[in-house]
Amino acid sequence: MLKISTSGVCRKCKRATLWYKDGKFVCTECGRKYTSKEIVQTMSDLFEITTGITKQEFVEKSKLLKNLTDRFNADFLGYEPCGKGVGLLDIGWEGGYPVRLNMMVQELNEILD
Ligand SMILES: [Zn+2]
Repeated sequence: MLKISTSGVCRKCKRATLWYKDGKFVCTECGRKYTSKEIVQTMSDLFEITTGITKQEFVEKSKLLKNLTDRFNADFLGYEPCGKGVGLLDIGWEGGYPVRLNMMVQELNEILD
């Protein structure tokens, strides 16, 4: 399973320390769990999910990733290099997280497994 961090903000802590796990946004500070539609604030311009990926993987899987993000109406798909051949995969939405984010993340796991 991919480790997925998000730019969503915890409604209690007001911090962006939410991981996406088992279909929920989980706050690492207070342990609160949220569904996609309960996340109304983001620390970045977009509502983003982020996971580690190699550059090679990003290049090889780019068509699959584009297809996936198109089907789930994402507004952004990008790779941010962090070091030698490794980086972060960012996927973002303008208006908020999709309700079916869980399905999307499942497919993302299959693509990157
Ligand atoms: Zn919290």
